[in-house]
Amino acid sequence: MKIYFDNAATTPVDNEVLKEILPYFSKEFGNPGSIHFIGRKAQEAVDFSRKRIADYFGIEFENVVFTSSATEANNFIIRGLIKKFEFDNQKLKESEKIVPNIIVSKIEHESILETCRDLEKFNRALVTYLDVDKNGIVDLKQLKNSLRKETILISIMNVNNETGVIEPIKEISKIIKEFKESKLQIKNQNKYSLNDLKYPVFHTDAVQALNILKEIKLIDLGVDFMTISGHKSYAPKGIAALLINSNLRDFKQELIMPIITGGGQEFGWRSSTENVGGIIGLAKAIELIEISQAKENIKFQNFKKILKEGILKIYPKAVINSPLNSISSILNVSFPNFTSEELIYKFDKEEIAISAGSACSAKALKPSYVLKAMNLTDKIINSAIRISFGKQNSISEINYFLTKLPEILNKN
Ligand code: PLP
Repeated sequence: MKIYFDNAATTPVDNEVLKEILPYFSKEFGNPGSIHFIGRKAQEAVDFSRKRIADYFGIEFENVVFTSSATEANNFIIRGLIKKFEFDNQKLKESEKIVPNIIVSKIEHESILETCRDLEKFNRALVTYLDVDKNGIVDLKQLKNSLRKETILISIMNVNNETGVIEPIKEISKIIKEFKESKLQIKNQNKYSLNDLKYPVFHTDAVQALNILKEIKLIDLGVDFMTISGHKSYAPKGIAALLINSNLRDFKQELIMPIITGGGQEFGWRSSTENVGGIIGLAKAIELIEISQAKENIKFQNFKKILKEGILKIYPKAVINSPLNSISSILNVSFPNFTSEELIYKFDKEEIAISAGSACSAKALKPSYVLKAMNLTDKIINSAIRISFGKQNSISEINYFLTKLPEILNKN
């Protein structure tokens, strides 16, 4: 039996998604930018898909900006915002110039953290890395205390990719809103600068939330920008999007600038010929999520419960690192006395695919910075594995995992 329990790294493409996109690789291969009938056909498909996605997230058609990956979308929001800030600040006298502040959590994906570190290297931003508690929840008190007039962006992920913890996005949004209002109240109305009105903005990386959480509309969560990615939700790799809250309207032009320039596709936000198949696939995958999410969640909750109980029965020393407030499809668990590496290897020999945390760091097998931020001991961190479910998994696979587990642990 070959088992794939690494769906937080990537999912297979759904058959219905594949069926819908295949014609666009052959018969309907046009470039949406072409004026002729073949190009128009591709453009129609892109428009239809964009509308589908916009409706799902409760935003306007022109507020869906397709990118090649969530990594790119995360780079776009951070670098695009800094670029606009620096552009505006060119006009200021040297003495008036400030270094903007960005606030993120210590457990963001590398595409956020490394982008922030890169900006810090060039003194283009001062970054605040918020602590998390033992469950991985962002320290809201520290957030409140960290907000300052230089803060232009807060980026906190909706769901963490290693433990599945769900961050309190609505509460964070409320804190940011209150800060913004208090900032404006303190100032005399005549003395508002455009920067006071503009900043800070709130972005969330919702890559791991997309196919699991029901509450995903930007307006309901109170976020200005959101990142999603196709390949964690049964669409192909190479397609993702930065979503923009429609409340921002034309104001978004005051906030961000494109980082990929060229032919002006994606309303000028991101040039490059559209990934037509990917876009169609992402829209179809989202349509399927809407239909099957509730059912899949019940299934995953059951899987997680059986697996948790089964693991603790077989190996009482196991430590569950995914808190109660985590998504149904991710279970992070440590087996002290083993290392993540040897566990992955042993499961692999049994043709069971699991991971040690995020896919990117898994190959290098660095100790997890996410678990470290949760203040877990080295023993727990170095023996953690991540089991993540997808809709193709079955209960017999969960049972098979549990029957193999004693053998795997005894072979040590
Ligand atoms: N953000 C989170 C939370 C992720 O889990 C991932 C993928 O592991 C990414 C961003 C990057 O996604 P992509 O592979 O589309 O660049």
